[in-house]
Amino acid sequence: MPNARPLADRFHEKYVVVPFSGCWLWTASTMSRGGYGKMTVEQGEQQCTGAHRVSWMLHKGEIPKGMWVLHRCDVPACVNPDHLFLGDVVDNNRDAIEKGRHKGLRRPEFVGPKAPKNLARRRRLGIRGRPNQKGAANWNARLDETKVRDIKSRRLTKAEFSRLYGVSFKAVKNIWDGKSWVGIDLQKM
Ligand SMILES: [Zn+2]
Repeated sequence: MPNARPLADRFHEKYVVVPFSGCWLWTASTMSRGGYGKMTVEQGEQQCTGAHRVSWMLHKGEIPKGMWVLHRCDVPACVNPDHLFLGDVVDNNRDAIEKGRHKGLRRPEFVGPKAPKNLARRRRLGIRGRPNQKGAANWNARLDETKVRDIKSRRLTKAEFSRLYGVSFKAVKNIWDGKSWVGIDLQKM
């Protein structure tokens, strides 16, 4: 049975405003994961959607397809439209990493199937360096100076270094042969 009361009415009675922070804390049910507010809206057939998404639609308008509604305030239960912003899946992952919520990924460089080549976009995503840049500035680098120094100085086999740092045999050999990471010399250790 469709809910007869206007969506805005139902929305505005389900949060309390927190002094100072200005967060609108959702007091109705929350999602089992993440603590986001839950609100049922009718769109054709009944479906559940995040209360913060409902807030965005009520105050700011449509959420473009594929976009996420993210929190500036890092309070998942907050539904204050002024604390929300739109982002794509990359923004969402980066946001989670910056706020320490993402377990699997540590560095924003590894987010998404592929880092964009466009420099302005890379900067916006917090990706260091230029595309195809060498050494640690390369977005895809698995090695850093410390590891390279280790590879240059410790007497392990290619296979052992490969396992240790998740790089190919070739990558280790290139370091030994002075074909990559040429800027790293052991004197500066
Ligand atoms: Zn908030």
